[in-house]
Amino acid sequence: MIEHISRRSSVAVDVGGVTVGGGAPVVVQSMTNTDTADVAATVRQVIELARAGSELVRVTVNTEAAMAALPAIRERLDAQGVAVPLVGDFHFNGHRLVSKYPHSVAALAKLRINPGNVGRGSKRDEQFAALIEAAIDHGKPVRIGVNWGSLDQALLARLMDENAALPKPRPVEAVMREALIRSALESAEAAEKLGLPHDRIIISCKVSGVQPLIAVYRDLAARCDYPLHLGLTEAGMGVKGIVASSAALAVLLQEGIGDTIRISLTPEPGAPRTEEVRVAQELLQAMGLRDFMPQVVACPGCGRTTSTFFQELARDIQNYLRAQMPAWRKRYPGVEGLTVAVMGCVVNGPGESKHADIGISLPGTGERPVAPVYVDGEKTVTLKGETIAEDFQAIIEDYVARRFGGA
Ligand code: SF4
Repeated sequence: MIEHISRRSSVAVDVGGVTVGGGAPVVVQSMTNTDTADVAATVRQVIELARAGSELVRVTVNTEAAMAALPAIRERLDAQGVAVPLVGDFHFNGHRLVSKYPHSVAALAKLRINPGNVGRGSKRDEQFAALIEAAIDHGKPVRIGVNWGSLDQALLARLMDENAALPKPRPVEAVMREALIRSALESAEAAEKLGLPHDRIIISCKVSGVQPLIAVYRDLAARCDYPLHLGLTEAGMGVKGIVASSAALAVLLQEGIGDTIRISLTPEPGAPRTEEVRVAQELLQAMGLRDFMPQVVACPGCGRTTSTFFQELARDIQNYLRAQMPAWRKRYPGVEGLTVAVMGCVVNGPGESKHADIGISLPGTGERPVAPVYVDGEKTVTLKGETIAEDFQAIIEDYVARRFGGA
């Protein structure tokens, strides 16, 4: 692990047994897209997300039926041995829901409150207070989650007016960024005045552009010590969403900013919701911040590899490692840090294989049809024939049992 972790928020917030901030590893979280009132579907998806590695799962709480369903969701998860903390996402009517359904508040590990959607005019403060008081009464932490798409319009108008009165007004984007940050920090201050302890507050200020997100979070991190929830909101679908989220979050994480992350991917129709968890894990692991899964180092292949054997082996080994992990994680502590190299030819194959824990260098076009295997940097065996894939898998299995089995 690298030193960046120690530069994150020094304030530790306990979210149902998961520590966010205080130097704890960056927490992966996700959000369901089921109707929360549909208990069976929501339980199913929370379990999928938790089994994929989500350490906190947020559910939308938009109606009385959704709020009323929370205790049953919690009970069913507990009955199935899934302890993942649930976070309730409140907008517009949260003040009424928390007052009417105290048992549902108790079923949550954290409340997410969006200051832009708490209420308007004279009602705003009292509705915000109702949510904060519910959190205080139940001993729950709160995320003050500001979003570009639902920014407090009264605050924005005030800052715009102040800006217009300056001799040299700042650009509109800068004023909007300031409004996001002020909305979060003023709300956090108000929550503390109402009695919510400092170490029960997490902040987020999400926008949908990479550069604005980086600018907002740099500023936010310099102005408060609350743990920060990072995420590029409305990141989009597929490769675009993954790249945009990774680009923004990587810069901030590298600077020591961010204590928990969510990748807000729009899934392809029918695609698993768990994709966002996998991307978050891959990002943290690629940056050397956490280990979740053995890594396969594979070259891209080129004209020296004319068959698809090399690509198939890299894919099969990747799938094999992923499939073993639920059992391996319990049996072989530390196995998530394993690296396996699958290389296409002699150009970089032996070198990269020596750097990995286990590596195989397949024969490129025109090379002798043999595949040297390296274990802990030493060449141990040369595979050949039709069973290279099976033999290599057996070597991995043996290595894992030997190295991690006695821990
Ligand atoms: S290791 Fe060999 S096959 Fe793989 S990209 Fe490099 S030259 Fe091509």
